[in-house]
Amino acid sequence: MNSAATATAAFDKQGQQSDEQRVDAAMQSFVREFGLTAALHVESCVHCGLCADACQFYLATGDAKYTPALKLEPLRRAYLREVSPFAPLVRALGLVRKPGIADLEQWQELIYDSCNMCGRCTLVCPMGIDIAELVRGARHGMFKAGLVPERLALMDRTARQWGSTATPGEDLPDILAEISARHGVAIPCDLAQAEILVTAAPAELGEHTKALADAAKMLNRIGAKWTMHQAGFDASNVGFNNGDVELQERLTRALIDTAVKIGAKTVLLPECGHAYGAARWEAARWYGQALPVRVIHMTEFLDELITSQQIRVARIGATATFHDPCQIVRRGGLEAAARRVLAALGFELIELKDHGVTGLCCGGGGGVVSNQRSAPLRHKVFELKRQQVEATGAERFVTSCGQCRITLEMGARHAQWGRQTESLLELVADNLLD
Ligand code: SF4
Ligand code: SF4
Repeated sequence: MNSAATATAAFDKQGQQSDEQRVDAAMQSFVREFGLTAALHVESCVHCGLCADACQFYLATGDAKYTPALKLEPLRRAYLREVSPFAPLVRALGLVRKPGIADLEQWQELIYDSCNMCGRCTLVCPMGIDIAELVRGARHGMFKAGLVPERLALMDRTARQWGSTATPGEDLPDILAEISARHGVAIPCDLAQAEILVTAAPAELGEHTKALADAAKMLNRIGAKWTMHQAGFDASNVGFNNGDVELQERLTRALIDTAVKIGAKTVLLPECGHAYGAARWEAARWYGQALPVRVIHMTEFLDELITSQQIRVARIGATATFHDPCQIVRRGGLEAAARRVLAALGFELIELKDHGVTGLCCGGGGGVVSNQRSAPLRHKVFELKRQQVEATGAERFVTSCGQCRITLEMGARHAQWGRQTESLLELVADNLLD
């Protein structure tokens, strides 16, 4: 790994490719990304700047370089030079300069350190340009060029080797036995047949085991036939974050294939936004048909258990505000489910100024929370959320994504803000009635 910093950007490199090879690898990947939709998106920007006011990195810094449309610049140049109807003319007349290694190195900060792929810019763009999706395509080119922040590249190597960033599958039974003993709850592993395949976020197998134990408590309470399985347990989007689409497909397929193998009808995703986009929305594309199993997020599961009266919860009776996780709500469409669960818990909900599909990202999505060098930027973004939470005057602050919670807690520690971010799942589990 090489690491370098210029006056404007920090970047890392992996592998031994020459600069020229890196540029060629990135350009070839960009060109491959240009299906009709991507081409239309790149063509149709009218430079209105509305996306800037939607992006938390621009809002938190006021720095014009974080304007979302600018994050697409090398992609746009690749399109105009290589794919557009006038590409031969553009090249012959030198109308658009080919991106060079310095452009790509500078771009690394813009598409990795300062983009959560949260889709807030996508929502406001009058031309319907899905900037978050294009950034994901651009990251694929950067991955091919070996130009990924080293922290993310390290996670990628681990996931490729182990099938998870948390642990090799063969260690899962021992880890679950330990969590089971610590929290006093049964966690079945590697059952040959089950109705529900339960998955975990990497953090739930390490520092945040209570969430997994709470899910187990609920599943056992309703008498579900469920299991975790070492062949498919890691619900993460590390591949999407890094630009390693092949890895993401492998991780997601492991979940679906394992569910099919054990006859499960449902794959239950953890209280984390990580895998939701990949497993819920992308997996069918990889399969080329409708998925043979139902994939649901923990929030949907809680909502269904409460609505169908399979579980009952005590009413807490306090005011609360709620952070909407981007991948679950804006990108995933699950706005109402969490609010029904909060209402069942007896919370009087006081909404954040920006909430629901327009909510601000926690600042950690898209791998930003794992990319240590972007911490100063992330802390500035956290300040926006802190101000909105304080403005509600609510007594409690809740979210339904473990990764958002980790990001918000890191931000609170840095800002010495004495508020706790609570988990919706843990609130339900802690207030279960007999
Ligand atoms: S909002 Fe859409 S059209 Fe306007 S500058 Fe941003 S990407 Fe371009
Ligand atoms: S996806 Fe989110 S973080 Fe990325 S440019 Fe758009 S608003 Fe900003």
